[in-house]
Amino acid sequence: MAIEDVPDATVQEDGDLVVRTVAASMCGSDLYLFNGEVEALVAPGHTTLGHEICGEVVEVGRGVGRFRVGDRVTFPYSVSCGRCVSCRAGQTAHCLTTGKAIYGFGTAFGDLGGSHAEYVRVPRADDHLEAVPEEFADDVVPFLSCNLPAAVIAVGAADIGPADSVAMVGCGPTGLLALDLVRRRTAGTVFAFDPVASRREAAEKLGAVAVDPGDQSAVAAVVEQTDGVGVHRVVEFAGRGAGFDLAIALARPGGKVSGGGVYLEPDHPTSLYDLYFKNLTLELNGFANAKVAQWEAMRLVRAGVIDPTAVLTHRVRLDDLPEAAVRFAEREPGFLKMLITP
Ligand SMILES: [Zn+2]
Ligand SMILES: [Zn+2]
Repeated sequence: MAIEDVPDATVQEDGDLVVRTVAASMCGSDLYLFNGEVEALVAPGHTTLGHEICGEVVEVGRGVGRFRVGDRVTFPYSVSCGRCVSCRAGQTAHCLTTGKAIYGFGTAFGDLGGSHAEYVRVPRADDHLEAVPEEFADDVVPFLSCNLPAAVIAVGAADIGPADSVAMVGCGPTGLLALDLVRRRTAGTVFAFDPVASRREAAEKLGAVAVDPGDQSAVAAVVEQTDGVGVHRVVEFAGRGAGFDLAIALARPGGKVSGGGVYLEPDHPTSLYDLYFKNLTLELNGFANAKVAQWEAMRLVRAGVIDPTAVLTHRVRLDDLPEAAVRFAEREPGFLKMLITP
């Protein structure tokens, strides 16, 4: 990753507009690209990362009707048309018109610019861009692009009963937001798994029983404590094959695993045998239909149900992003979410 001067984003089609980045953030899913794990997606020296943003409209194409220069906006991480068969079914991440176009996610996903830049071109603005309520501070807004909608979707899909035991696998920024929502849904015990001690501490503050997934006896103890068969529901935000396998291991027969993490490991061997012999229900929504959940995310923030800035631990300038990204990638103790300003 490097910071370079590039030509400013411009309106290219009538439905485009350009936003000035007021604030952005870096997502756990960006780490796949940052770490070079999905080389085929990224064109080095060309791809700008970032799909989480608070922006101000600075230029508007002739075909745009809903926005004017000066509007404060955010986008869901992917561009959707709102009219194709996928969008009409609420599967906006699978928009057929835009072909799964994701901001800052490389050539394989629409080759769009990212929010880790001073200006971003927004295609099809009327179809997917969202105006931001005035009362939302700039540092809240980037959470509406990805993390908070993802948490809303995963926790909703987990279908948690009022006395269910729940395991939260992965307590990064989005995992902790999801955990906060989980705690409001059940009076049952909520276990929180993360290998990083500071993240386990953050989970404990939210009322969870924290467990180090590297401690096999502790994992077995959780199964023992939940009627000897495992938890009713698992919400997964580790976003790795190992986290997914842990989620499967923790769920009781007939239970439900709701995966919100991003899995980009095509060859990871998950045991079909383990899945089959547990009668599990799987809900995988890591490729989240963020457009659809964005309004609910806004409603939760406005109602004071959740304050996403609780997981905001660092603020960096764009010039310092390459160095800060390393600390984020290494899961430095106490490092959760960073706000990036130009
Ligand atoms: Zn994201
Ligand atoms: Zn569509």
